Amino acid sequence: MAAAAVFALFATAGCGRGSGPSASDEINVLLVVIDTAGAEHMGYELPDLGHTPNIDRLARDGVLFTRAYSPAPWTQPAVASLFTSRMPSRHGVLRLFDVLDEEHTTMAEWFEERGFRTAGVISHMLLESRYGYAQGFESWDATPVGGHDAITSHAVTDRAIRWLDRHDRSAPFFLFVHYFDPHFAYWHHPEFRLTGDYRGPVRPGMGIWELREARERLGPEDLRYLVALYREEIAYTDHHIGRLLDHLRRRQLDGETLVIVTADHGEEFMRHGWIGHTRTLYDELLRVPFVMRLPGGPEGRVVETPVSLLDVLPTLMALAGEPADPAAEGRSLLPWLGAKAPAPAARELRAEVSFASRPEDPAALSQKTAFKTAWLRPDLKLIHDLVEDRFELYDRSTDPEELRDLSGAHPAEAELRAALLAWERTREARGVERPGLQPSPEELERLRALGYLR
Ligand SMILES: [Zn+2]
Repeated sequence: MAAAAVFALFATAGCGRGSGPSASDEINVLLVVIDTAGAEHMGYELPDLGHTPNIDRLARDGVLFTRAYSPAPWTQPAVASLFTSRMPSRHGVLRLFDVLDEEHTTMAEWFEERGFRTAGVISHMLLESRYGYAQGFESWDATPVGGHDAITSHAVTDRAIRWLDRHDRSAPFFLFVHYFDPHFAYWHHPEFRLTGDYRGPVRPGMGIWELREARERLGPEDLRYLVALYREEIAYTDHHIGRLLDHLRRRQLDGETLVIVTADHGEEFMRHGWIGHTRTLYDELLRVPFVMRLPGGPEGRVVETPVSLLDVLPTLMALAGEPADPAAEGRSLLPWLGAKAPAPAARELRAEVSFASRPEDPAALSQKTAFKTAWLRPDLKLIHDLVEDRFELYDRSTDPEELRDLSGAHPAEAELRAALLAWERTREARGVERPGLQPSPEELERLRALGYLR
């Protein structure tokens, strides 16, 4: 019944080519998340590099959302928001060791209730099942988790392919595949060479804290090399995503599978004085790749209306013909998957980070402590640092890199502040303090190596 319900809807979603699936077709969902992949580093935004041909092809075959945003600048809150369509302060995963509560109905639970076979293949220790992300997944394969200095995309794809080969097609599937390689450490991949000749202090695989300690001394050549290494990791990941998509084709599943490729957040390379993520709410961290290919759906559509990771679950619900969940904080993107795209809309989004701010956190965390909220209008962005009670305002049309703070000098600031502060009051009313897991000494050591702690 579930598959029929989902696909009755897919058939009426306004399929552009007129060859959409019939109500009896089974439609599967493949959701790919690349950890730490900023939209500005994707091949379709850097055509001279062409280093992500597989994702670029998927965009040409489907719908590319060029202004897609994560509500948080690091893995745990972002993935929890993707899975629940709730902002971090609603689902409660705000800080290291917070657990996604059983009370939330996750995307996988929603699929499971509708008869889908559900599986996840992950490669990040912070998504291991004890943090609550495996809710609703029949199979949660964490075998590829290898830590910051392991290269895992090949293994992630192998494990996903292995699961697909065991899938017997008696029911549709929801497969979540998480890639980790672009996350530091940044390794050189000679077969996807973007680095060129370089002699300097940056080395492939360099420890994140060593890199951060050297950051003020890095010149433009060093940063170019560092970014090239990072993009080689994205290229390598794209290659293995390509293998997964090829496998879908070989198994003749691609015509009956909705494919979504996105990221949990991006990465910063000294544009705002830091290397990595978790500390700020600039677009280099929040703007993520977002591509959807729906069988029989539109091809080559580019959507500039702002969208959010929060929108994925409402979109799937709408595709299944189910009413919108009033508690969901995202919106269905179904109109953009129909025959005729709607006119661009002025969507407003929010973002937040509360990182490492518990009083019992080791003092060593202080460099990464961040308590910030942001209000994103298509033309302007207001960021509020809650620790320093300081605001920053950026004109997104003339200053997309957010380098010229207009706070105190823009006529629209009062309106944005009012919106942001009203939302902050609802956050405070709910309370953001929750007990988290107590990390073991080994866990602290692993997190140190990953750059979360020092
Ligand atoms: Zn992440």
